[in-house]
Amino acid sequence: MRKLPGVHVPHRKNTATQPAQRLPIPPEVRIPMAMHIGAPAKVTVSAGDEVKVGQLIGEAAGFVSSPVHSSVSGKVKAIEEQDAATGDKGTFVVIETDGLQTPADGITPPTVTSMEDFIAAARDSGIVGLGGAGFPTAVKLTVKDVSAVEYIIINGAECEPYITSDTRTMIDDAEALWEGVRLIHRFFDARAIYVAVEDNKPEAIKRLGAIAEREPIAQLRPLPSVYPQGGEKVLIYNLTGRIVPEGKLPLDVGCIVINCTTLAALAKYIATGMPLVEKRVTVDGSAVKNPMNLIAPIGTPISALLEHCSVPTEPGKDGVGKILLGGPMMGVAVPDASAPIKKSTNAVTVLNERDARVPEPSACIRCGNCVTHCPLGLMTVDIQSTYLAGKIEFIGVYRPNLCMECGCCTFSCPARRPLTQYMKLAKAALRDYEAAQKAQKEKGGAA
Ligand code: SF4
Ligand code: SF4
Repeated sequence: MRKLPGVHVPHRKNTATQPAQRLPIPPEVRIPMAMHIGAPAKVTVSAGDEVKVGQLIGEAAGFVSSPVHSSVSGKVKAIEEQDAATGDKGTFVVIETDGLQTPADGITPPTVTSMEDFIAAARDSGIVGLGGAGFPTAVKLTVKDVSAVEYIIINGAECEPYITSDTRTMIDDAEALWEGVRLIHRFFDARAIYVAVEDNKPEAIKRLGAIAEREPIAQLRPLPSVYPQGGEKVLIYNLTGRIVPEGKLPLDVGCIVINCTTLAALAKYIATGMPLVEKRVTVDGSAVKNPMNLIAPIGTPISALLEHCSVPTEPGKDGVGKILLGGPMMGVAVPDASAPIKKSTNAVTVLNERDARVPEPSACIRCGNCVTHCPLGLMTVDIQSTYLAGKIEFIGVYRPNLCMECGCCTFSCPARRPLTQYMKLAKAALRDYEAAQKAQKEKGGAA
């Protein structure tokens, strides 16, 4: 079967062979209530309350939502409606830590004997897609008809440069991950469970391969290291040959894709009863001399991780060009390093000034590289020209809404054109155009 295209990015997995270090508990954490796709959690504590590790501080506010737990023991200092440090919108629970990390009362492993128990455990754990997506795991695992799930793919591709937090999960938490595979095997009757790992992670492949040989309930599937191998639709196609149609979900083609760290975290919760309160985060990038994986409480300021790795914390100063939450291909720039790490944060990438510089684009030479390398086969060059010509009414035919913002087009463009940026702008313009059309139609119908 032909594999989907992509690009060969430099791997730079500098931290792949180093087990994670535990970051000292910071004096203060700021825990956002919106760390997932769906409704933000509703705060259940007040300023002045004493809290312990794993205590509920925000309850799920709907089906597509997730509870939030305290990552530290200490005292609630404030409930902020806007992060006072960064100006980010949303509700934040600010906690002064006591450094004791006292676990909350009543932390006991849940009883999981049925699919309902399994889903309830996923919900109560506060676990969401930890590879960056942030989709509540309980929602992903809730299926009307279990027999419709033919393939379950455990995503260990981790295809972005620098990031190795999933790699370390597959090495350091291999047994927990496999316990997660057992749970999946027990509650779903899938035709196959695949553990997908890019072939630039030999230690993870060796570790998981040995377990899979001993207990063949899942197949280890090493894959070529071609970015964006870990994209959900890419992985589904490359492993099963199935295409997720526009507007549909993986489940519509009989697939569930779950990140390896997410599954290991769920297995740990079922074994211990401690909800998701900490994250393994890779700190690396061209401005980082001492890269490492750190385990930090959720809500820890990014600056605490950077200081631990001896990295200056101000973008635009001391050789720091840009600080990204995530990797260099899909990461989001943070203007202020006091922003907290979230459940879905898997990396902080710090680029030096040279790598952060936006290149001067030249005219498009119609080489077609951007189209050839787009894993979704989008007509990137036409989306660009239609958007720049302001002909938004014609842009829908090129389906910019399908773009997953992977950055392959920008990476492959010899004219250094900011194509991913144009894709984002084209998507937003199309959304606005369609909303205006709909409103006009409704107005016309009502008249
Ligand atoms: S058009 Fe979108 S999906 Fe295609 S390569 Fe560019 S960013 Fe990736
Ligand atoms: S890769 Fe760049 S130069 Fe080539 S067609 Fe696309 S936009 Fe034009």
